[in-house]
Amino acid sequence: MSKQEQLDKLNKEMLSCSKCTLRKGCIQVVPGDGSAEAEIMFIGEGPGKKEDELGKPFVGAAGKFLDEMLGVINLKRENVYIANTVKCRPPENRDPLPEEKDTCWPWLLEQIRIIQPKLIVTLGKHSMEIFLPNFKISEIHGSALRREIPEIGKQIFFALYHPAAALYNGSMREVLIKDFKKIPKVLALIEKGEKK
Ligand code: URA
Repeated sequence: MSKQEQLDKLNKEMLSCSKCTLRKGCIQVVPGDGSAEAEIMFIGEGPGKKEDELGKPFVGAAGKFLDEMLGVINLKRENVYIANTVKCRPPENRDPLPEEKDTCWPWLLEQIRIIQPKLIVTLGKHSMEIFLPNFKISEIHGSALRREIPEIGKQIFFALYHPAAALYNGSMREVLIKDFKKIPKVLALIEKGEKK
């Protein structure tokens, strides 16, 4: 099966998931969006109101900013894959609870296993914490880290602040754009390392 076929099958399964209570309070499951062949996978926190309405991740104000930053490095969302730690909108956009993230974790793992991205970019503290629990985002944002995740194996991560945090904060916006611009270089270094 191609990566796209595997993702299609997985998405179908995700759409009928009701393993946690989040599903009762949202309109629909938001599995992910983008290319099954992506080299970069962006992982946010969880769907917001707009995402819940449209069934796609990052389609609200934070998503517009994410699209804008992708444009700065000559990428479109069709070139990358975008997913979230939880696939259903938490009520009133509250933070996902640890047990909700745990319940949704196998879906995210399966997405990563299928796509096999060269680089995982975590968006915000909650996404960073599930992969890099002992780190502070204020200390590692904008730098690449290689970590062994038991279920995934060796994987390179790049932590960013959440685009929503930068919407009304000019200096945060500058930090995020500066960090974002490092992504092509990080990817080039990964590819160079692979050829050795
Ligand atoms: N914020 C997120 O973390 N994910 C989305 O999909 C939208 C906003």
